[in-house]
Formats: sequence, C-alpha cells, structure tokens
Amino acid sequence: MIHPDFENAHDVVRKIITLMGDDPDRDGLKETPTRVLRSFGELFSGYRFRPEEVFKIFQEQADEMVVITDIEFYSTCEHHLVPFYGKGHVAYIPYAGKVIGASKLPRLLEGFSRRLQIQERICRQVTDALMSLKHGLKPRGAACVLEAKHLCMCSRGVGKQNAVMRTSSLEGVFKDDPATRAEFYHAIKSL
Ligand code: ZN
Repeated sequence: MIHPDFENAHDVVRKIITLMGDDPDRDGLKETPTRVLRSFGELFSGYRFRPEEVFKIFQEQADEMVVITDIEFYSTCEHHLVPFYGKGHVAYIPYAGKVIGASKLPRLLEGFSRRLQIQERICRQVTDALMSLKHGLKPRGAACVLEAKHLCMCSRGVGKQNAVMRTSSLEGVFKDDPATRAEFYHAIKSL
C-alpha cells in the first residue's frame, strides 16, 4: 500500500513504539513501521470492498437453500484494535431461480470482516447486502452466523482463552419460518 500519507503514518507507528517504551531505531524494529502499514493494507482492505461488485446474477433451476459453512474469517475489534477470528456460515434462499456464484458468499464475509468491526455488525452487513434492493438477487431470505475468538477477551481483560462468541443475523424466511431456520441450523451443525 503506497499512500500519500505513508511518511506520516510511518512516524505515527514509530511514535507508538516509543510510547510503549521501546526504541524504534533498534535493529529488530527499524522496518516495523513499514511492515505494519503493509499488513494494515491487507487487514483493512475491506474499506475498499464494494458489495455490489459481488452481485453478478445467474439464472438457474434453483429454489432451495444455498449454504456455505465453515468460512474462516479474520477481523479486528474496533474497541481494542486486536484481532478476532473464527468461522462463518452464510446462506440464502433464491427467488425465481436467481443465484450468485458460490465464492461470492465468502467474498461478502471477507469484505466486511477486513475493517474495524464488531462481530454483530459483520453478521448484519452480510445479510443486509444479500437482502439489498440495489441488485436483482431478491432472495427469499438470508442468514449469517459467526463463531469467533476475540483476542481482547483471551489475551487480556477477563482472560477467557476458550470462550467463543456466537452471533447471528436472520432475514426474510429465516426469521419468519421456524422450519427454514431449523434446516439452516441443522445444515451448519451437521458438517
Ligand atoms: Zn475488543
């Protein structure tokens, strides 16, 4: 990532290292600001993500639930700037045979994860994007469940190393129809 403010940002990282009590000029840390900014470029690439680019619609003989399970994701807690990561399960039910490519559901999760986030909001943004009226998919429903470990909870704070946080967002038939919801929860548990 070459940004016009790269030099400024470089100085900011040096400053943070100094405030931590270390010497930004010692050998092991000299290149750290550059590495940090490069890694930020990747960790926060979601700010350049445009969900509408995901929605290339195909016409198929399909009206059953589409589910992708165990999608790994990495995000950054906006309260503590430390990672949270885990797996996600995303589903929708096509309407009138309109579908999107299978890789697009992971792309949606990836795009929203790589920002400063809270887990609940990622879930909602994924289902909102699927249900949006801006593209022609118009699914009968959308669902997203995320299960993640938060480093702000395991490496500091309450120090709970094995706690997994589970959040969900259900829209359309997933919300309104208990049988559809049950089918979805069964699908994400059975693999
Ligand atoms: Zn946190």
